[in-house]
Amino acid sequence: MGEATAAVLYGVEDLRIETFDLPEVGDDDALLLVEACGLCGTDHELFTGHIGAPYPVVPGHETVGTIEAIGDEAAAKWKINVGDRVAVECWQACGGCDPCRAGVYRRCTKHGQTDLYGMIPTDRKPSLFGGYSTHHYLSPDSLVLPVPPELNPVEATLFNPLGAGIKWGVEIPGTQQGDYVAILGPGIRGLCALVATQDIGAEFVAVTGYGPNDHPRLEMAEAMGADLVVDVAEEDAAKRFRDATGGRLADVVIDVTANAPTALGQAVRLSAVDGTIVMAGVRGEKGAPGLNSDAIIWKELTVKGALGVDAPVYRKALELLAQRKFPFDLFTRREVGLNDTAELLADMAGKGSAPPPVHGVIVPGL
Ligand SMILES: [Zn+2]
Ligand SMILES: [Zn+2]
Repeated sequence: MGEATAAVLYGVEDLRIETFDLPEVGDDDALLLVEACGLCGTDHELFTGHIGAPYPVVPGHETVGTIEAIGDEAAAKWKINVGDRVAVECWQACGGCDPCRAGVYRRCTKHGQTDLYGMIPTDRKPSLFGGYSTHHYLSPDSLVLPVPPELNPVEATLFNPLGAGIKWGVEIPGTQQGDYVAILGPGIRGLCALVATQDIGAEFVAVTGYGPNDHPRLEMAEAMGADLVVDVAEEDAAKRFRDATGGRLADVVIDVTANAPTALGQAVRLSAVDGTIVMAGVRGEKGAPGLNSDAIIWKELTVKGALGVDAPVYRKALELLAQRKFPFDLFTRREVGLNDTAELLADMAGKGSAPPPVHGVIVPGL
């Protein structure tokens, strides 16, 4: 029996390196050697305490690795074997309850929203339930996705934000070819929503950001083919959208902002009559100042909440990544080992000394 090394979050900005015994693998479970774990807004919000967690916990929910050990039953069920590279869905699903049978496994009555990989306390054995670790335990109710051979593990971690881009940017709002789209927030999920809406054939896509820190990301959005980028700290997004489109507003608005209370009000102002707003940016208790809720009625808008993604969409994301149709290499990227994870998270939260990369990745082997 060997040991795993993991970064364990004990509280706000308190990340410690610890070792754990590797679990024995039975018939129906597996052990993953983690090659890369992507970081998103959720990660730095957990680190800074904007999102609570059942401390102590091994975070990390955008995990890619190779199977180190697997039971016969799990190998048959997941159609994978030792040495195969997989991406790990952070939700677990029993497969047998009513929601699971209906295909909405994120509402699994056995696991639900308290059993997310990256959010499970280490006092539950075998403790290795997150990607900030050399090893990740895969319970019998795990969902794993084969990674196409064209992709290296770091690239493959984009399965998660690109899956969100496809799910929130296209599938939930029903975005169609020819649509006019506004994306609020130029983070990795916003840039991935840009790719996903371009891929479906959107006619016009705008991306907004806030303040000088977002300027490099807005330039990135432009380089990736955004038709309009707007700094909402300087300019009115709805006016710029109208000016650029000959008076049209957005059929679809995707809010993937972080800590931006006024974004929902802007989304409503940017929406065309009969438009759809997808809300995926959480705002805590700050509510939505500047929201004219009557406009939702006058414009007959549809507002939809987006919580997670799902396995079929992650598969599409991995396929799209493997096609190399879009310039994901324009993303600024930083890869760190476990020891430098806290520093990278502080930078991503805007509290460090270096500018935040769009794509932060932990490579536990570094
Ligand atoms: Zn994430
Ligand atoms: Zn279930």
